[in-house]
Amino acid sequence: MLEIFERIEKTYNGKDLALLKRAYDYARKAHENQKRASGEEYFIHPCTVAKILVDLGLDAATVAAAFLHDVIEDTPVSEGDIKKEFGEEVLELVVGVTKLEKIQFHSKEEEQAENFRKIFVAMAKDIRVIIIKLADRLHNMRSLNFLSIERQQRMARETLDIYAPLADRLGISQIKCELEDLCLKYLEPDFYEYLQINIDERLKEGEDLVDHVVEEVNKMLTDSGVSGEVFGRKKHLYSIYRKMRERNKTLDQIYDLVAIRVIVNTVDECYEVFGKIHNKWKPVPGRIKDYIATPKPNMYRSLHTTVVTNFGRVFEIQIRTYEMNHAAEYGIAAHWKYKENKKVADDLDTRLSWIREVMEWQGGLKDSKEFLNSLKGDIYSSEVLVFTPKGDVISLPKDATPLDFAYSIHSAVGNKCVGAKVNSKMVPLNTVLNVGDVVEVITSQTSKGPSWDWLKIVKSSSARVKIRQFFKREMKEENVKMGKVMFEAEAKRRGYSTSELLTDESFEHIAAKLSFTGQDEMFASIGYGALTVNHVIVKLIDYYRRSQPQQEVAKFYKSNNKTGGGVKVKGMAGLLVRFAGCCNPVPGDDIIGFISRGHGVTVHRRDCPNLKHVEDGRLIEVSWSEEADSVYNASIKVMGNTQAEILAIVAATVAKFGLEIVSTNGRTDHKTKQAVVDFNVRLNSKDELESLITKLKQESKITDVYRTAN
Ligand code: MN
Repeated sequence: MLEIFERIEKTYNGKDLALLKRAYDYARKAHENQKRASGEEYFIHPCTVAKILVDLGLDAATVAAAFLHDVIEDTPVSEGDIKKEFGEEVLELVVGVTKLEKIQFHSKEEEQAENFRKIFVAMAKDIRVIIIKLADRLHNMRSLNFLSIERQQRMARETLDIYAPLADRLGISQIKCELEDLCLKYLEPDFYEYLQINIDERLKEGEDLVDHVVEEVNKMLTDSGVSGEVFGRKKHLYSIYRKMRERNKTLDQIYDLVAIRVIVNTVDECYEVFGKIHNKWKPVPGRIKDYIATPKPNMYRSLHTTVVTNFGRVFEIQIRTYEMNHAAEYGIAAHWKYKENKKVADDLDTRLSWIREVMEWQGGLKDSKEFLNSLKGDIYSSEVLVFTPKGDVISLPKDATPLDFAYSIHSAVGNKCVGAKVNSKMVPLNTVLNVGDVVEVITSQTSKGPSWDWLKIVKSSSARVKIRQFFKREMKEENVKMGKVMFEAEAKRRGYSTSELLTDESFEHIAAKLSFTGQDEMFASIGYGALTVNHVIVKLIDYYRRSQPQQEVAKFYKSNNKTGGGVKVKGMAGLLVRFAGCCNPVPGDDIIGFISRGHGVTVHRRDCPNLKHVEDGRLIEVSWSEEADSVYNASIKVMGNTQAEILAIVAATVAKFGLEIVSTNGRTDHKTKQAVVDFNVRLNSKDELESLITKLKQESKITDVYRTAN
């Protein structure tokens, strides 16, 4: 523990050093008296994690967070405490690591593992959180032998599926290789031991050959006046294991147990040496790789070739600059060796901008973009990854809701869904899910099934299809029939007929709002109760009113007047006759009939402006009949000084005639400053109307009276 401090004192200074000293002391105190499974002091763990990061060359904030990474989870220290002591940046890193700690990975299939890695990257947000996690896992893997075999296996599997590929993706081959070898040790202990013993034996046998090749290559460098280093490098066990497994080979058939590595100063020198080697030894076809011209997505750059040496052995040779070599070992972490500590910005782009800088600094622009996308693409991508309560990962489209989640599990779960919890809290069904959310669906056996609104909530096409399937299944004849009956009854109750309300146009209008594809669908869902009949009818009436205001007004009179009574249609009997609401004809008025589509004959005053543009063919002669027991509505406009005066006078006069005021509507004319009141009066004939108007005109406080068309 003291040695870590010596390393830190050599590496950091000033404020950074002070921060690290505080973090060290704080963590030591917080973990006091805690022990690891090995029996050693717990504090050894954060110290080792910190040391791995110091060796990788990370910034002080990251190393401080490494000291503190288990403090929130395992000790009484709170987030507030960390923020107060160490500030926002360190807090965010610690919180990030703690958050990832809570995710239980159940890696089973490759696809799931890939999803886990995506969640990991997306949730970490700051790549430094992942690097801390990698160091944390590395130390835990190193001390795995103190755990039960079962836990060893689980941890090793998880490391191989999640952590090692992440390290690879970030280009940190040092960590990747050590993790993979440790995994092999626990997952295939016999094979691991076999490889260890046999590879060492073969390496000893082949030692002279390696030395010989190194010597030859060194000579080439000297001859060309290039300075550099050449050495043999043992390949890590897992890569040999993988080669044997994937290509079904025995150890004897694996030639490149050792790679010869050549490190020079410039890119030109790389290609120069490359050419010289091929000049001397024959390259194996298909094994020449130029990762300088085309870097790997994780920024790895190097020239690779496999050659047949003149003494009969095949060797892989890797040629690269010192800088490339460094980047290959440290990957993304290499950045901090060259750059000052970066401030963590809110914006993701800015947060990842340093990656871009690394890329540019390495010159691999084309692939840097690809790499960047592979990192942040997860966050912006078209999918959102969430967990089931058991820890399985479900991939849903962006902006998906708990309903999408429910249907992705099973259509029966979706159909019976009545509620949802996200991260243990009840939420509305249209809540938008975020990456890493734990989603739980609440179902009820008594649920009547999905509602049509759900089609507007769900984002995945599969959920939409399943909801539609449900409706189709439920669209049994009896439901359609039942719905129709309910619809007709309610329409009638409100004074409409089904054919009036439900036309092709009106249905199209509400179908778009309610997501129906056919009228039967609508009736069926009314029939089995997924939709209330009022919900539909209110929408249809609203549409009817807006599209056919005249009929609607007429309807008002129809329900207030006796229709048909008092009017004869020329040459026809038994026709439905109603009075137009626009001109309110009363007996004695010159009238004419308008044949409306499906609604019988509407009676207008002959001078009604609404008839001006009507085709002649649709007009029909009508006349007043002798029966005078009908009542009619008429509109009159009365002007005077104040509305109150007019109302008092009109009310008294109408009462004297034994008539009835149906409605009044008053205003003040802003030009003349006169009060204007419209009256709707119920009366029996034109004579009566004219007498009323004459009487009102005699009133001194009334300046004018006349009948209006509407
Ligand atoms: Mn830890």
